[in-house]
Amino acid sequence: MTSSADRSAPLVARTPGELRRALADAGTTALVPTMGALHEGHLSLMRIARERARTVVVSIFVNPLQFGPDEDFDRYPRDLEGDTALCAREGVDVVFAPATGTMYPAGRPAVTVEAGEMGSRLEGASRPGHFTGVLTVVAKLFHLVRPDLAVFGEKDAQQIALVRRMVADLDLPVEIVGAPILRDPDGLASSSRNVYLSADERASALALSRSLEAARGAAGAGAAAVRAAAAAVLAEAAAARPPVRLDYLALVDPATFTEAADGHRGDAVLALAARVGSTRLIDNASLTL
Ligand code: AMP
Repeated sequence: MTSSADRSAPLVARTPGELRRALADAGTTALVPTMGALHEGHLSLMRIARERARTVVVSIFVNPLQFGPDEDFDRYPRDLEGDTALCAREGVDVVFAPATGTMYPAGRPAVTVEAGEMGSRLEGASRPGHFTGVLTVVAKLFHLVRPDLAVFGEKDAQQIALVRRMVADLDLPVEIVGAPILRDPDGLASSSRNVYLSADERASALALSRSLEAARGAAGAGAAAVRAAAAAVLAEAAAARPPVRLDYLALVDPATFTEAADGHRGDAVLALAARVGSTRLIDNASLTL
């Protein structure tokens, strides 16, 4: 087992058996689940994991279960070699990169982890079945890796809320650690899907982070003002070329993802999803009203 000071190449495990051998005598273990095409956002999660555990495992698996039939599973960027090199730089000990058939030998599993009501809102409404796919693969990864902690990004705010809920509801023995949203220098939240954007599309897409900044500035004035500030920026972006086509904009309770009332006080998440060209982007801001 490599130590945290060793920056040599991580061990790449392709099967549960290889993973178990790689993790014999692992000590405190942190898992960072990803779909690969790693960027600075993922690396920030690895750094948190590195600080917290003796052994850091990064899983790289483009999970077919969480993609809808008309989504980008086939064209999702894949680069295991480049990803492994980035993991080496961050002192990752083990990369777990199973084939689809290794994770789902019988095809779609008959038994899955249902995301329930919270999983049917916002992202779940736009992407039916998405969170059931996410929770099922996360539960499988927890059982395969048996981590003491797992690091998830707040970029996917509803996802981390649901993972926390699954861990609580199913008594899974793992600590969930949240990592702040990492942004590119122009403000766009780092994402593997940003490579799909043309230069013009990217310029339009900056309205997402601008709308969240405008909302942040209105947080002292309450929920209605927050929604209005973000909506104004997004309305302008809807008329831009290329246009930003809003999927949803919602101010929600961070634990339940139910809509925050106009008189809501305390913590809230302003979450949005939009399409620019053929690319679907999500972003959010944590606010105190
Ligand atoms: P993905 O590969 O897109 O499934 O993301 C893997 C993990 O990285 C998830 O926990 C994401 O929330 C997290 N992540 C992706 N992009 C960012 C970002 N820009 N900032 C922080 N975390 C991120």
